[in-house]
Amino acid sequence: MLDKDKALLLLVAGMVFIYFEIKYKSKYSKFYRCKKCKKVYNYADVKDNNKICPNCKGELQDYAEFKKEEYRIRKILSNRKRIY
Ligand SMILES: [Zn+2]
Repeated sequence: MLDKDKALLLLVAGMVFIYFEIKYKSKYSKFYRCKKCKKVYNYADVKDNNKICPNCKGELQDYAEFKKEEYRIRKILSNRKRIY
């Protein structure tokens, strides 16, 4: 009986974890950022624009991708500082 309860609890915990992971991921993939003017747009606002910025016609980038890139650049910069 106890093992069954434990299994159920584990299942519920796993489902809650997955739910929050999906929620978190979708939150960040729903934004686009312009490479040129750095404006951030809602995915819903620019999805028909073929990833072109309505403001400056620059290329739009997935905000999650941008965050990854920013992290990479920061890492490169901090490595460079160590060299000099
Ligand atoms: Zn722009």
